[in-house]
Amino acid sequence: MNKKLNASLLQEVIHEAYEKCKDDKGGANASYIPYLANIPSGLFGISVCLANGQIVEVGDTSYVFGIESISKVPTALLVMEQSGPHAVLEKIGADATGLPFNSIMAILLEKDHPSTPLVNSGAISACSMVQPTGDADKKWAAITDFLTALCGSKLTLIDELYKSESDTNFNNKSIAWLLKNYGRIYDDPDLSLDLYTRQCSMGVTARQLSIAGGTIACDGINPITKAQVFKAGLAPHIVSLIATVGFYEHTGDWLYTSGIPAKTGVGGGILGVLPGVMGIAAFAPPLDGAGNSVKAQKAIKYITNKLGINIFGHNHYEIE
Ligand code: GLN
Repeated sequence: MNKKLNASLLQEVIHEAYEKCKDDKGGANASYIPYLANIPSGLFGISVCLANGQIVEVGDTSYVFGIESISKVPTALLVMEQSGPHAVLEKIGADATGLPFNSIMAILLEKDHPSTPLVNSGAISACSMVQPTGDADKKWAAITDFLTALCGSKLTLIDELYKSESDTNFNNKSIAWLLKNYGRIYDDPDLSLDLYTRQCSMGVTARQLSIAGGTIACDGINPITKAQVFKAGLAPHIVSLIATVGFYEHTGDWLYTSGIPAKTGVGGGILGVLPGVMGIAAFAPPLDGAGNSVKAQKAIKYITNKLGINIFGHNHYEIE
């Protein structure tokens, strides 16, 4: 039997989640990027974008924060759109690493394969694949235009965050050049790394992220603007990547307990996708040891469990 999901039921459940999680003191802001260490830790918001375009939200959903690793999702999609899903599989891969997002050991263990566009190595590799090769300005325009279409409104670069990351991204520099060593970067390594650093420094709101999730949930049709942002048929590929590695070394625990594919960023955001039904985003800066927002995880888990939503079960949902 189909379960009914409507905006008022969701409103009730996300408010419950907000109340239950808002005073949680677990985790700490990312400290390895100085800008992120100084964001007010108490910020907290949850936004849901239903497939029919209704938005349900609570808390700080219009606060602009660093998108960070969630930016790996749109760029992977852009590369699939430009070069086809097979190119991503061939040139980067679709495997979980089971290791931290910035792991160099993962590259060494894979023996020349970045493994997935949703960890740093594969994401730098994905930036290198964005067309047109060699033209940083046009590549950047392609990345930002795609982000705008996916979220349904413009995102802006947080200059201070970009500077902060560029001044401290020594590990990512090593990754870019190690990929070069293995023939797994497809444009200039410094250019590719700079694009990656810039995309991570884009400012986004929880509302925009929920709309991005809604667009993926609707197989490329933005539920707000109704634009076809990417080819129908790519959504299952990106959702499979998100499900496989969205929480890095904690991805299995996350799927086991939440039942929903989701991608995190060290800015404190989480973007979840329930295909055909909704995109969900939550934001709260303090992170656990793997770099995933503590409160945002708790809130999304509360919501999916309370509603009985799970991509692995025989659940079907109708939006009323
Ligand atoms: N820009 C960050 C980095 O490269 C993104 C990491 C993340 O959000 N997990 O370290």
